Amino acid sequence: MTTPTSHLTTDAKRHISFEFFPPKTQEGVEKLRNTRHQLAQFKPEFFSVTFGAGGTTQEGTRNAVLEIQGEGFNAAPHLSCIGSTRDAITALLADYREHGIRRIVALRGDIPSGMVDVGEFRYANELVAFIREQHGDWFRIEVAGYPEYHPQAQNAEADIRNFVNKVNAGANAAITQYFFNADAYFRFVDEVRARGVTVPIVPGVMPIQNFSQLARFSDTCGAEIPRWLRLRLASFGDDAAAIRAYGLDVVTELCDKLLAGGAPGLHFYTLNAAGAVGTVCQRLGL
Ligand code: FAD
Repeated sequence: MTTPTSHLTTDAKRHISFEFFPPKTQEGVEKLRNTRHQLAQFKPEFFSVTFGAGGTTQEGTRNAVLEIQGEGFNAAPHLSCIGSTRDAITALLADYREHGIRRIVALRGDIPSGMVDVGEFRYANELVAFIREQHGDWFRIEVAGYPEYHPQAQNAEADIRNFVNKVNAGANAAITQYFFNADAYFRFVDEVRARGVTVPIVPGVMPIQNFSQLARFSDTCGAEIPRWLRLRLASFGDDAAAIRAYGLDVVTELCDKLLAGGAPGLHFYTLNAAGAVGTVCQRLGL
């Protein structure tokens, strides 16, 4: 499948966003700048920057976010609360607000191995409520959703209930974990709509570039690589170009299906590279 018909609507155009992780080296900073400038042509609503749980990347996240904002784009820092305190989150929010940041991707995060103290927040809904309590409507808050359910959820029903509870705490929108099965997304949306959730639920999209890396990520975060995709990717062996070419077709087709089925936009996990994500956006005619 190489020539999807674009189903992009005007609405979808407003909801394209790209996610980065904070670079660790000067070279990484420059690479990210370059990536950002290439992806800017797709006129994203915002660029977001992840946050290492337990505050491990706090400075890097802040630096990247302020640079993006300084260039005139909307920047959204991710903020994870596990292992943190009310005082630390209060200080960080005040700092972002002072710098004109208007969006936060609010998360629980995962407890880094070896961390004993989980801090003063247990779940993301508590962080969302805390941000609203302190800042009213200053920040637009996005939260995470899991069409294939969160790997630590007690069960599927409890996970849906927890998601609804988190949105009701004051989220404006949700971004999903990535998936390769469009039906999982549509079912998730139907389930939460039936429980009164009306906010946009933007699918998170992961490009396929490196099979072993993708398999590792997916095991950790509970995203399923369907059998047909896993076997096909495995059959390419070390042929990186073939994996990328096939991955581009699969991901473009997925995005097209999502938009055609009513998804309000797309949030791309870029891994700080413009290549694959940029090609998908071009093929979709974004
Ligand atoms: P929560 O919504 O708190 O849910 C976590 C688990 O707890 C779920 O199983 C849920 O069902 C359960 N739960 C929720 N409330 C309750 C309750 N009251 N009682 C019992 N159980 C409950 N991680 C990072 O460290 N940094 C990032 O920058 C980052 N960015 C992300 C961006 C996106 C778009 C996504 C989808 C994920 C991101 N993550 C990030 C990963 C995320 O932090 C992990 O998936 C984490 O394990 C859960 O975070 P959450 O905010 O979804 O947690």
